Amino acid sequence: MDRIIGAVIRFQGIVQGVGFRPLVYRRALSLDLKGNIRNTDRGVFIQVDGTETSIRQFYEGILHDPPVLAEIHESSIDIVRPYGYKEFVIKGSGEDGGGFTPVSPDIATCDSCLQEIIDPADRRYRYAFTNCTDCGPRFTIIQTIPYDRENTTMRVFPMCEQCSAEYGDPLNRRYHAQPNACGVCGPELRLLLSDGSEMQGDPIGETIDLLGQGLIVAVKGLGGYHLAVSPERGAWVQRLRERKRRPGKPFALMARDLETVKGYCVVSQLEEELLTSPARPIVLVQRSGEFETLPSEIAPDTDRLGIMLPYTPLHHLIMQEGHRLLIMTSANFSEEPLVYRDDDAGRNLSNIADAFLIHNRDIHRPCDDSVVSGVGNRVVPVRRSRGYVPKMIRAERSKRQVFAAGASEKNTFCVFKERKAFLSHHLGDLNNEKSLDAYTHGVTDFLSMFRIKPEAVACDLHPDYESTHYAEKAAAEWEVPLLRIQHHHAHISAVLGEHNVGERVIGVAYDGTGYGPDETVWGGEFLLADAAHYERVGHYATVPMPGGEKSIEEIDRMGASYLLAAYGSSKQIPTLPLTEHLGMRKLQLFEEMIDAGLNTPYTSSCGRLFDAVSAIMGLCYAPAYDAQGAILLEREAGGCDELVEPYPYRIHEGVLHFDDMIRSIVGDMVKGVEHKKIATRFHSTVILSSIDMCIRIREQSGISTVALGGGVFQNRIVLGHFPGGLEEKGFQVYVNSLLPPNDGGISYGQGITALALLEGGAL
Ligand code: ZN
Ligand code: ZN
Ligand code: FE
Repeated sequence: MDRIIGAVIRFQGIVQGVGFRPLVYRRALSLDLKGNIRNTDRGVFIQVDGTETSIRQFYEGILHDPPVLAEIHESSIDIVRPYGYKEFVIKGSGEDGGGFTPVSPDIATCDSCLQEIIDPADRRYRYAFTNCTDCGPRFTIIQTIPYDRENTTMRVFPMCEQCSAEYGDPLNRRYHAQPNACGVCGPELRLLLSDGSEMQGDPIGETIDLLGQGLIVAVKGLGGYHLAVSPERGAWVQRLRERKRRPGKPFALMARDLETVKGYCVVSQLEEELLTSPARPIVLVQRSGEFETLPSEIAPDTDRLGIMLPYTPLHHLIMQEGHRLLIMTSANFSEEPLVYRDDDAGRNLSNIADAFLIHNRDIHRPCDDSVVSGVGNRVVPVRRSRGYVPKMIRAERSKRQVFAAGASEKNTFCVFKERKAFLSHHLGDLNNEKSLDAYTHGVTDFLSMFRIKPEAVACDLHPDYESTHYAEKAAAEWEVPLLRIQHHHAHISAVLGEHNVGERVIGVAYDGTGYGPDETVWGGEFLLADAAHYERVGHYATVPMPGGEKSIEEIDRMGASYLLAAYGSSKQIPTLPLTEHLGMRKLQLFEEMIDAGLNTPYTSSCGRLFDAVSAIMGLCYAPAYDAQGAILLEREAGGCDELVEPYPYRIHEGVLHFDDMIRSIVGDMVKGVEHKKIATRFHSTVILSSIDMCIRIREQSGISTVALGGGVFQNRIVLGHFPGGLEEKGFQVYVNSLLPPNDGGISYGQGITALALLEGGAL
């Protein structure tokens, strides 16, 4: 018989509030181990007695088959002399030693809970706040750590006898499920009309009825309010567009189940996995012919549809009992933050919503729906928020503590500690007072939640970003160094950090706008970079932006600028829909502005090139939403299964010139070549000329690893062909897959650079 030994086992990572201790308890019982487990502020700590074989089996079993929501980042086992334990017990939480434990994101309703709410015999039948250790709210209800009911917004609901019994039973699925509740003791729903009067009867049933009449209902969810409307009639959808002042941007949909999604969309294996993952993000999927039976007002001009599955019991009940498909759009005005407080909802949404389905469980932190897409077998996070935040991302370069402020639009900030990074929820455009408030609040919250005392602050090089102003103040107040990181270097560092690449790489950063140290606006950049330093070795040829920032909103200006650069004079430009739309007077005005250097900064931006071509092709002159010009251009190219012969381009002394391409596109337009061909050839040119640039840079530098970053890598054609094209030429290629390649991930990159500078002894 095996000798009895003792062992000390530690697991670190997301191991608390995810059913770890009950699972360990059950496995210990089944292997006849004696000892105990407890939570500490550095993870879970287990002491056991048993045979060596069973202890090994126990340890390996947990390591390889942990609870669904757990993520083990580090673990250890040490053999010691037997303790002499008589039984296995779960102990209370240990002493707080000033460390921290990662907080779990909010998790979609699990299958077991779903079965209960649809089972008339179950005591949680139709209970909208059902949850267990495998699912339910976390990040959005946690007020402070450690994660105990007393520290959540559930503290005002004392558990009834039955719920308490579940909570205290290590063999129950709800053992220490902090938000545990039932219809007897937990939160309740109410349905209010916009005049404040309460609807009597069953709130869920009544809501379904109102939606069936085409009314707009504000639904309080997990991280904030949604505006729900039935997409059955175009007029209903249009009414929401008008009230929300959102003319063209596609609305997100919620579908009852995967079958419903497949009824309207073409869903790949990867997309199916994303749709049903515990984070339940909005997934951008290709709509199928069946979608044409729905009103075009849902998503007027894109082939991609943002769709998600229900992720709370309330959603499940509304969808199961009433609607197969609903528009579920974030409740806010264009760029303002998501509404999540009940009083704000009453005040701000009463002109939009006809009714409010509310409840009395407070949302402590707002958290927007996340958005992802799948390109081939790559996951592309577009917005990383609910379901993902605040999961840690590795930052292996350094243990030091850093706060990184982010950029301006699609803002997130990021905090670093002990080789881990915690990227904030989506905060949106900081040029908006309310978003800036949410930002300030969020920073304080994260620093205290993860107990971070920054040793340095990182921000963008742009002197006028609100995040830069905030960082300047914070660094002064905390008396720590402020590091200003160039925007595109930060994009590349985000890729290097995520993949833990330590070497120098060729960084290709393609996006809309970033501050360049040479007073031009960067955005089509080739860098030689490691996390600490970069050197600009190539870029797109610069063109003027007539009217500066205005040319981002009115992309016909960029079209004019590229035409003027390619033809030398307004008189040489052939007649195009764009020139007709502008008229000769406006075109000449732009020409004069450019000649006089009047409010016409120069840009090497890749995003602006896409805008210009979209305008030259007559697809879009003034985007109704972010990147509409590029989205329409991508749509024209269809799937673009294969790249075609590129248009002519020139590379001269590291600068990539597109004037030949612009003239060829104009030539094709005049000849009446079909749009699909032109758009496909344009995308092919961007990709193949970029690969050409990388090959030249490799010849000069000997470096054959490439990191691709920036918002342009959300483009399915670019992401679908550029990395593979580089690999065919023998490059090793890295792209973000946990972080958005857009500015939503840039704070992480700033922090990675700051850590590298701190470790390099630069400070
Ligand atoms: Zn559950
Ligand atoms: Zn109860
Ligand atoms: Fe950017």
